[in-house]
Amino acid sequence: MKYYSTRNKNEFVSLEEGVTRGIAADGGLFMPERFPVLTRSELDKIRGSASLAETALIISNRLFGDDIPYGSLAELTEDALNFETPLVKVSENIYALELFHGPTLAFKDVGARFMARLLKYYYKENEEMVHVLVATSGDTGSAVANGFLNVPGIMVHVLYPRGQVSPLQEKQFTTLGGNIRALEIEGTFDDCQALVKKAFADPELRESMTLTSANSINLARFLPQSFYYFRAWSQLQSDEIVISVPSGNYGNLTAGLVAREMGLPVNTFLAASNANDVVPEYLASSVFSPRPSVQTIANAMDVGAPSNFERILDIFSSKHERISRHLKGYSFSDDQIRTIISDVYQKNGYILDPHGATAYDASRQYLAEYPESRLVFLETAHPAKFPEVVNKIIGKEVEVPDRLQAFASGTKHSILLSKEYTDFRGYLTGKY
Ligand SMILES: *Cc1c(COP(=O)(O)O)cnc(C)c1O
Repeated sequence: MKYYSTRNKNEFVSLEEGVTRGIAADGGLFMPERFPVLTRSELDKIRGSASLAETALIISNRLFGDDIPYGSLAELTEDALNFETPLVKVSENIYALELFHGPTLAFKDVGARFMARLLKYYYKENEEMVHVLVATSGDTGSAVANGFLNVPGIMVHVLYPRGQVSPLQEKQFTTLGGNIRALEIEGTFDDCQALVKKAFADPELRESMTLTSANSINLARFLPQSFYYFRAWSQLQSDEIVISVPSGNYGNLTAGLVAREMGLPVNTFLAASNANDVVPEYLASSVFSPRPSVQTIANAMDVGAPSNFERILDIFSSKHERISRHLKGYSFSDDQIRTIISDVYQKNGYILDPHGATAYDASRQYLAEYPESRLVFLETAHPAKFPEVVNKIIGKEVEVPDRLQAFASGTKHSILLSKEYTDFRGYLTGKY
């Protein structure tokens, strides 16, 4: 399989080049030259499969099977996806697909662990050290840092906005040491993302070191996220589902659209956002106007210029009419998010995290309008990752899983940098 840039469909790179470059030289995002359509028998196998890893192998064999032998792919998917994505009924016709059963309790474990093992596979082949740059508003940093920790041939640099990441999240990527560096940037998430993009667009820098991105702009993080959409469908055993996705950079939702292109029988996706609502606004008005992000209590979705929007346009040939046929937008204020968490806890005994809460409420609104539907919303993180928000709302302490608690005891190590590119570049080239 070859991959093209969303900004130039005539030039192709291999899977290895795509994953190690992260972003195309022209600033576009890589997309597979075609979406393999799963056969009836593959879909049946997915319906009958017993685990995420098993589902993932069937799909990744179609996506990556030309490039990686089946045995290596089996090893890779089993090692990366050694946890489950249970489907839990929350209320009548609304189910949570819990994506927080991986090591850092967030859905980003799926893509991050897959990508790390893919880079390791290529490192074994040619031994070239890769520097991974990742901008995070919270969960990406921890998932990437933990997914890549001690993976040979990889150095990870995590950029995060100072003071805008929850303390426990911060611990998850600042305490690891080894091949993981944490860079505390005096700016916003968008500033961090801009620094990473500038580094990728800096030809001299790229000449001197192999840089890649582990944000959802990297195809190896984004494509594996399609696996659990199939898993949701096979767990619910229904052909009438609508899937609701709490969205920030839109990598997760775009992976759902890819799953659909590959044959997942889901026609409608709900794009649930917090106050950073440029995509719902686009769906309603056909005008896309990215702008600086605002801070909310669903902070992993505080993105004002969602990178993967470019991929959504690409999938639907930039036709607003086609996009809005498959995507419905919803946005929620912090107060609304608090109310949802409280209501669902009191009525259904289920504790939502602030991100999943937006997707739950979008599902509830959709169901009110189309009562025949069955909805799956993606519960993208465990509520215990946001105790500052959730405990107050539900009036008790969310139980903290042991593997999360373990991070709290580490000591933070970070490097403080301004949001100026020259400083970041200086750090990378060793002048700091
Ligand atoms: C990253 C994140 C999101 C947003 O996902 P995108 O792929 O950026 O749209 C939603 N919820 C949580 C908990 C996250 O960490």
